Formats: sequence, C-alpha cells, structure tokens
Amino acid sequence: MPRRAGIWWLLLSVPVALSNAWLPGGGLASWICYDGLGVVSCVVMVVALGRLRPPSARMWWLLAAGSIFSVLGDLVYDVLLNILHVDAYPSVADVFYLLSYPVTVGGLGLLVRGRTRGRDRVGLLDAAIVSTALALPAWTFVIRPISELDHAGLGDQLVSLAYPVFDVLLVVMTARLVTTPGSRRLPVPFLMLVIAQVTRMLSDISFSATSIVGGDFPWLNPGWVLTYLLTTAALLHPAAGRIDEPGPQRDAGVLSTPRLTLLAAASLLAPAVLVVEGLRNAHKIDWVAVAIGSTILFLLVVARMKLLLNRVHRQARQLEQLAHLDGLTGVPNRRSWDDALTRELARARRSGEPVVVGLLDLDFFKKFNDAYGHQAGDLLLKEAAAGWRAQLRDPDVLARYGGEEFGVVIAGLAAADALAIVSRLRPATPRGQTFSAGLAAWDGHESAEELVHRADQALYLAKDAGRDRVFLAEDVTLAG
Ligand code: GH3
Ligand code: MG
Ligand code: MG
Repeated sequence: MPRRAGIWWLLLSVPVALSNAWLPGGGLASWICYDGLGVVSCVVMVVALGRLRPPSARMWWLLAAGSIFSVLGDLVYDVLLNILHVDAYPSVADVFYLLSYPVTVGGLGLLVRGRTRGRDRVGLLDAAIVSTALALPAWTFVIRPISELDHAGLGDQLVSLAYPVFDVLLVVMTARLVTTPGSRRLPVPFLMLVIAQVTRMLSDISFSATSIVGGDFPWLNPGWVLTYLLTTAALLHPAAGRIDEPGPQRDAGVLSTPRLTLLAAASLLAPAVLVVEGLRNAHKIDWVAVAIGSTILFLLVVARMKLLLNRVHRQARQLEQLAHLDGLTGVPNRRSWDDALTRELARARRSGEPVVVGLLDLDFFKKFNDAYGHQAGDLLLKEAAAGWRAQLRDPDVLARYGGEEFGVVIAGLAAADALAIVSRLRPATPRGQTFSAGLAAWDGHESAEELVHRADQALYLAKDAGRDRVFLAEDVTLAG
C-alpha cells in the first residue's frame, strides 16, 4: 500500500461526497455520490484489511462492519423506495442502520482499551462528565421531542428513539476516545476516526432535527459518507497499526487548562439547557431531567476534584520525603538532622533529660573508593546506614551529615549508655570496614553548634589516635 494512500483516498473521494449536497436527490449522480461512494469505501476497507492485516484487526473489522451495515441500510432503503416503491418506516433498512451503531461503538471501545490498558480513572471520569453534559440537551431537544411526536405505532416510536439513544452512546465513546492519555499528540488516523464520529453525529442530529421541525437539509448525506471515507482513510494511513498503542503515561489526575475549560463548559450545559427551555417554553420545562442531569454532573465533578486532591496530597508527601531524606541512604539528611537536634535540645531544656550527639566517619573511605570504585563506595554507605539504623533504638536519630559522615542524636540516656549504643554499631559496619566516632553530652546550656563542634573535636581525636574507635568529648574515654 503506497505511503500516502489515505491522503489520496480523501483527496479523490471527499469532493465527490460534498458534491452530493448540490445534486438533485433521486438521480443517478446523487446515487453515485452517496450510495456508490459508500460501497466503494467499504470495498476498499475490506480489501485493505485483507492485504494490510493490521495488528488490531478485530477493532478495524468492527469499524468496517459499522460502515458496511450503514451502507447496506442505504442500499436496502433505495431498493425498497425506488424499485419496490415501498416507503415504509421503520423498515428492514433501519435494522441495518441500527446494527451499525453497536459494532462501531464496540470498535471504538477496543481502541480505548488499547490506548489506556485499563489504567485511566481520570479519563473515564472526564468522559462521563462530557457525556452526561451532552446527554442532557440530547434528551431535552431531540429524544423527548421525538418521543412526543405522533408515531404510527410502537415500532415506529422505538426505532425513532433508538437513533438518538445510540447517538448518545456514540458521544460517550467519542468523549472517552478524546480523553484517553496521550491524546494531545494524536496519531493522524486516530484523529480521522474521531472526526468520522463527529461528522456522523452532526448528520444524525441534523436528521433528528429535520424529523422534528421538518424541512430538508442537503448536508446529511455528505456527512454520513464522510464517516465512511474517514474511517477508510484512517485504515490506509501508515500509522494505522500504531493507533491503539497506549498513550504516554499521564500524570494521574492532572488538569490542564484546555481540559478544565472542557469540563467547565460541559458542566455549564445543564444551566444552559434550563435557560433555553425557560426562554422557549417557560411552563413546560423538563425539570426532572435537568435536576437529574445536574446532580450527576455535580457528583462527577466532585469525584474528579477528589482525584486531583489525592494527587496533590501524594505529591506533597513525596516532596516532604525528598526534602528530608538523603537520596542515597534513605536516612534523614543534614536538614532533618539540624531540625532534630534543635527539637531534642528544646525538649531536654524542658524535661532536664540528657542528650548525646555523635559524629561517625568511615575510616579510609577514600581508599575503599579507590580500590573498589565509587559505586561500591555508594553501596557501602547505604549498607552502613541500614546496618547502623537496625542497631539503634526507634527514637534515636541517625542522619547523613555529609559525604561519609553520619550524625546520631541519642536522647534520654546518660553519656556512658550512649557510648555503649554507638560502640554497638561498630560490628554492624559492613564489608569489614571501620569507623571512628566522636560523642559529646549536652551540658544543659550550650548551643547545638557548640555541642556538634565538641563531638567533631572528639572525632578528630579518635582519628588521630589510630581510628576504629569511639571517643566521648568529656572524658576522652577510649572504647573498644
Ligand atoms: P579518614 O579515615 O581520615 O576519614 O579517611 P577518608 O578517606 O575516609 O576521608 P577523606 O575525607 O579523605 O575522604 C572521604 C571520601 O569520601 C572522599 C569522597 O570521595 C568520599 N565520598 C564522599 N561522599 C561520597 C559518596 O556519596 N559516595 C562515595 N562513593 N564516596 C563518597
Ligand atoms: Mg572518613
Ligand atoms: Mg570525612
């Protein structure tokens, strides 16, 4: 199949379809531009499906069947009217017309399923909002007036109602289609299918309007033929095979300005219907329909906002973690360490309980890096933090102070007990590595900086004394 087959197909067929609007009805030319073109379109689609064998064949066959049923309806209608001279409504033709809807909706459903892979609650809600909003005017201005027309019988009434009801179903599916993730960078054939549904709905709505208010509308047939032509063009497009690939993962719950505008406009349709009804016929407003429609819409919008809020909360939690945890080791970072120390000192000032601060520094870490590589060094930092954390009590704070230096805050224990706890960390250091530590017990007056400075000096002394040991600033006790 040539690369530009779809474009050529549209360039050749669309002018023929449009010319139908100017041709006198009932003639051969008008037949060729409508039924003839429809038949050609279906044949091209079937042949192309047989030759191209696209990956999502089931979806394309359903869409093709949608066109084929419609065209069969047209042909049956013509045979009944022009050859058998039967002008019945409803007739066998309507069976074909009506069959075309569920298969088209089924095809579009497969397309939606492919593009979302069942992970798009937000898109589903947005589609529900748009569909409910559009269903209300459809009911008020089309479905209800048709149900109130003089019908020849129950069959006539049911068939007349089935059309707009199916159209609402088509709107639901099309709304679902355009709210799938990744719809912004749409593949061209996807866009063609969406426009195909829109032209079909426009023709259907115009048809319903002419059946309510009477008159003739020359654009009905071109609209319907365009649906077949666009569906065929979508199949012929080189990107047709990729049409039902999942869109890029959307941030769940995101609400862009165009989408917000769409949802706002959709929600405003309910009051708009009320206003139009009020202006048209103040004493016959269908207040039940408007009330049900606006209630459902309101609840859907609230559900949508709830999803958005969930996302904001989730992100706030993630941000909070990012701001307070060290990315490599997962223990609190320097900022949290500062906060924790200030908090513990304030608490100790009130309660009079002791606070001990320790600084731990891996010995010869540069050598370890040089010997085993920086990644192995990273891993050692992670494992050391995890190993030490496991030895500490829950309320003890272990934070990454910077580089290969860690800080601990031990509250409520005397200096000797804190020293024992930190000494317990030594055998928990992984890969046979060692650390030196300096501890300082808060004197009840000094600032956090002064306290940490004393611990740092003890650490310096521990290093100086040969490493692999824990020093307490106050008495320069040698542990281990
Ligand atoms: P000392 O016993 O005196 O503490 O010797 P040292 O080699 O541990 O100390 P020094 O301060 O000379 O070197 C610290 C090294 O820690 C240097 C730096 O490359 C390494 N380092 C700091 N942060 C990281 C890190 O996030 N990952 C890795 N792999 N290495 C780090
Ligand atoms: Mg070191
Ligand atoms: Mg260091």
